[in-house]
Amino acid sequence: MKRRAFLKKAAVGLAAGAVAAPAIAQSQPGIKWRMASSFPKSLDALFGTAEQIASRVSKLTEGKFEIRVFAAGEILPALQVLDAVQNGTVECGQSASYYYIGKNPAFAFDTAIPFGMNARQQNAWMYYGGGIELMRGLFKQYNIIQFPAGNTGTQMAGWYRKEIKTVADLKGLKMRIGGLAGQVLAKLGVVPQQIAGGEIYQALERGTIDATEWVGPYDDEKLGFNKVAKFYYYPGWWEGSAQLSIYVNLKQWKALPKAYQEALEVACADANVHMLAKYDARNTEALRRLVSAGTQLRAFPRPVMEACLKAADELYGELSAKNPDFKKIHEAWKKFRDDQWLWFRVAENTYDNFVYSARRPAAPAKGAPAKKG
Ligand code: CA
Repeated sequence: MKRRAFLKKAAVGLAAGAVAAPAIAQSQPGIKWRMASSFPKSLDALFGTAEQIASRVSKLTEGKFEIRVFAAGEILPALQVLDAVQNGTVECGQSASYYYIGKNPAFAFDTAIPFGMNARQQNAWMYYGGGIELMRGLFKQYNIIQFPAGNTGTQMAGWYRKEIKTVADLKGLKMRIGGLAGQVLAKLGVVPQQIAGGEIYQALERGTIDATEWVGPYDDEKLGFNKVAKFYYYPGWWEGSAQLSIYVNLKQWKALPKAYQEALEVACADANVHMLAKYDARNTEALRRLVSAGTQLRAFPRPVMEACLKAADELYGELSAKNPDFKKIHEAWKKFRDDQWLWFRVAENTYDNFVYSARRPAAPAKGAPAKKG
């Protein structure tokens, strides 16, 4: 509907229902936006969150502010969401900012960098540690304001056709991996590739790649990776958590009524809680199903983890020397992360270590997680 026609209709509605209609319906304009997502419809935790945000915004504004959500490929290629929001092709988008490290490596802090923070620590940084403000300084250069709007929690390290027993096994491995992790692994001989979620299965099936990571059991099962690779590794050290964001074109944002801005911001914060809760609640059963269907669970050997940590630190030094945005954000981020780790070591880690080891399932690396501790 054209905006003028919509306003006219709204005015008619106002005359008929003036007594009962709440204030928002009487005073606010009808607005219709499009949101492009980087994710396919099949992934309900990721794409479904964009739909949930649109639905909440509509309800909070009594149907006045409608956002139509499009899955990856429907109106835009998956990895062009930031560009499209920047140039106003769409008013808003849902994506993972580390897809855009080719533009500026500092975008990675909005999602995850290797050996970064867990979901709670990321939220602490974003909402109370200056993270949102720091990242907005970067996004502003791209005409965008961003909102944290979901988190996957700690990810799995993905699917491999062959076992990774030593650092040397990484050499020559063609792997789909996003963000700065690809650059870390490249230092150890991996050939990283950035492929959108909906296209990974085919690449792995055809042998264009030897390995892939995506998120964790709940999503990975839906994408069918277990059918084309046998070994499922953990932990995804490149994503101690991974934050998803909603991007809004800055000009469109400024033109929104204050109440609609508030509705969108609240819906994103709500999504930030729900996506993580959904993954946490659903991953166990998915992992059980994968393992009973023959998937072999493997932990990365400690020497592999240590080599990756060393390579990550090297990369951060190089990026800081080259890119002032990266250096500025990395320094603030690292200080916050180190403080978080200091605190989490005290109560959180002690508690986790005790309860998980006191109720340890039998041989977790070989079979399904035990049904009962
Ligand atoms: Ca991932």
